[in-house]
Amino acid sequence: MHRRSLLAALPLLSAGLAALASVTLALAPTAARAQGDYPSRTITIVVPFAAGGPTDTVTRLVAEGMGRDLGQTVVVENVGGAGGTLGAARVAQARPDGYTLLLHHIGMGTTPSLYRRLSYDPVGGFEPIGLVTEVPMTIIANKDIAANTLQDLVALVKRDTTGINYANAGIGAASHLCGLLLQKAIDAPMTTVPYRGTGPAMTDLIAGTVDVLCDQTTNTTSHIRAGAVKVFAVTTPQRLPSLPDVPTTAEAGLPGMEVTIWHGLYAPKGTPAPVIARLSKALQAALANESLARRFQDLGTEPVAAERATPAAHKAFWEADIAKWRPVIEAAGQYAD
Ligand code: ASP
Repeated sequence: MHRRSLLAALPLLSAGLAALASVTLALAPTAARAQGDYPSRTITIVVPFAAGGPTDTVTRLVAEGMGRDLGQTVVVENVGGAGGTLGAARVAQARPDGYTLLLHHIGMGTTPSLYRRLSYDPVGGFEPIGLVTEVPMTIIANKDIAANTLQDLVALVKRDTTGINYANAGIGAASHLCGLLLQKAIDAPMTTVPYRGTGPAMTDLIAGTVDVLCDQTTNTTSHIRAGAVKVFAVTTPQRLPSLPDVPTTAEAGLPGMEVTIWHGLYAPKGTPAPVIARLSKALQAALANESLARRFQDLGTEPVAAERATPAAHKAFWEADIAKWRPVIEAAGQYAD
């Protein structure tokens, strides 16, 4: 993501700031027991967005592969709301025993700066386990919208007096960040409609309740191919093999509007190192699976290489992302709370 574009885009936050739901603090986690037999029961991966969305899709594929490697069931629990901070809080406050994990996205890089009052520590509350994937986004709309190109959409947004609605998954969500960049690039506002995740946002987009969405290809590809939504651009410098007819944002008239969304796997702070190492190994095994790689490719993305699915690589990337966003958000002076 380009710093300058976001810096200029952040003032748009002021129109859409939502109050954070309060989160009840769980009891302080107790020390984990000896982990020699780990894992001996079902593991839960919390997705901080609703079911059916892109983070959910990626997590379910990864959970299946990890479960095979670990010899245990890995279930997915959706805890959506407040731009992903409710689900993240649930994991930061969970017992650090390797049985409750978080699979989150770029929000882990922006939340520490964007939210100043959280019930959990958005950096110190977690142990990184490994990166998972980096996913392009697509700008899409309800199929009946009176626009066939991105330039048509820009013109429509600018002249529509009743307002074009833009769906997102809350402040700090990928769809929120992409929406800011889009509105800045076209220099026109849209009315924001927040959801607990872009799974339900997609349902409403198809039904026509909302007009426009920018979301990861892991959620949009099948709907684009089925003709259930209109697509205007992919947010990458090159076209995607999975959607070869879709122009890039630069080709469609918005050069520089580029963004990809990274995902990583986390455990609560204090999870024993051998457990983190075992989980990282299981993540690498899941990502190395050929059918997962094919499924990812079909959804416009690919698994990270094994050396990036490690705690050290994830930590370095995450810290760099926090450092990238902090001055941008602070300079703009616009916060979620
Ligand atoms: N793609 C969503 C976002 O805008 C989240 C999701 O439902 O996965 O961040």
